[in-house]
Amino acid sequence: MKKTTLLFILLTVISVQSQTDTRIYNIVEEISAQRLEKDISALAGFGTRHTLSDTVSNIRGIGAARRWVKSQFDKISQDCSNCLEVFFQKNFVEKGSNNRIVHDVWVINVVAIQRGTKYPNRYIIMSGDIDSRVSDPNNFTSDAPGANDNASGLAGTIEAARVLSQYKFENSIVYVGLSGEEQGLFGGKGLAEYAKKNGWDIIGVLNNDMIGNIEGIDGVIDNRTFRVFSEPVPPAETEKERNMRRFYGGEIDGISRQLARYIYKTTQKYMPEMNPMMVYRLDRFGRGGHHRPFNDLGFAGVRIMEAHENYNRQHQDIRTENGIQYGDVIEGVHFNYVKKLTAVNAINLASIAWAPPAPIEVLIGGIVEPSVKLKWSQPSDNKDILGYKIYWRDTTSPTWDHSRFVGNVKEFTLEGIVIDNYLFGVSAIGKNGYESIVTFPSGIIR
Ligand SMILES: [Zn+2]
Repeated sequence: MKKTTLLFILLTVISVQSQTDTRIYNIVEEISAQRLEKDISALAGFGTRHTLSDTVSNIRGIGAARRWVKSQFDKISQDCSNCLEVFFQKNFVEKGSNNRIVHDVWVINVVAIQRGTKYPNRYIIMSGDIDSRVSDPNNFTSDAPGANDNASGLAGTIEAARVLSQYKFENSIVYVGLSGEEQGLFGGKGLAEYAKKNGWDIIGVLNNDMIGNIEGIDGVIDNRTFRVFSEPVPPAETEKERNMRRFYGGEIDGISRQLARYIYKTTQKYMPEMNPMMVYRLDRFGRGGHHRPFNDLGFAGVRIMEAHENYNRQHQDIRTENGIQYGDVIEGVHFNYVKKLTAVNAINLASIAWAPPAPIEVLIGGIVEPSVKLKWSQPSDNKDILGYKIYWRDTTSPTWDHSRFVGNVKEFTLEGIVIDNYLFGVSAIGKNGYESIVTFPSGIIR
């Protein structure tokens, strides 16, 4: 190898490894706790945002709330020369669809798309919920401020739009307020179907549901830790894929899990004071959230939320009983914590939206050999790509602990690594230093 070539490779490797973009730190700082407080207060101020509540009033009910959300996105768009496409995405749900739909209702989401400059049809999505509830899920008239569940997640989504709309991205970012969550995940289902019908190439969904409580029911107070829930494998996998998994692995390496690992890594890199906690579960034990309808259709999606929940402040009539205050009121929300978790979302949206598409059709081989061979394809034009990074980890490790930058090639052999003892994946790195989510192999090289 020529000396100059060697030097070039060395410099490239050094620049990849030391790559940090100060814009990411700016994004963290630009998220405002004051604006989040104002928005959460505004949302809690609509009395109830129950999916079946009043739609005519301009001060109370789900109708007023969703028009307010749209007005916020419209305002943000005005401030960035109309950089957002804002619209209502409507879904008709018939009375009796389940026992929580007691009359016919339009479940209406508010969508804002910041169109990518290079990959307009590739979407990274951040969501929060508009709707709220009290103790009786079908009570659509009592006060249900839903300050933490889920004005916090929705305010975070609006604030992320405010900050990120000041930047330009190669991939599209979608900010969305979903409705109908408490009545049976209807808004997420509607938008996931809309996305599928319109051929959206969804990179992933960051669903934020309750990102403002720091005082757990167990007495723990913690404003650093948060949870990222991800299901193990897509529920839509085929019998053949399931059978492949048995022999080649992948039961802890589904697409949502890779998204969770990406969030974990980005957070550790840019916000090391935070403690991301990956939970190897679709959601909390027996409970649900709006990332699930996206998972159901085969899209990657995770739930981001506080680490310590307080059930006295969730789905409760506002009251005092035996000296305990119940109700999801504004006093239970810690705006600085909402700010931190909003920043976690924003830096991940930005990193993914600046990154090239992940490799596709990653193949792996190395049965009874002293080395591992990987081969992959790139779905986009090669001009953006600096190169690829091969990752591997112990089969018991949750994170991609070992990696090697291999340059702009489409196959590589890792000498001296035995395939049986590790799990492997490949990511793409752009010339701007941003990295895609890791792709786990989906086929075998014989
Ligand atoms: Zn809820």
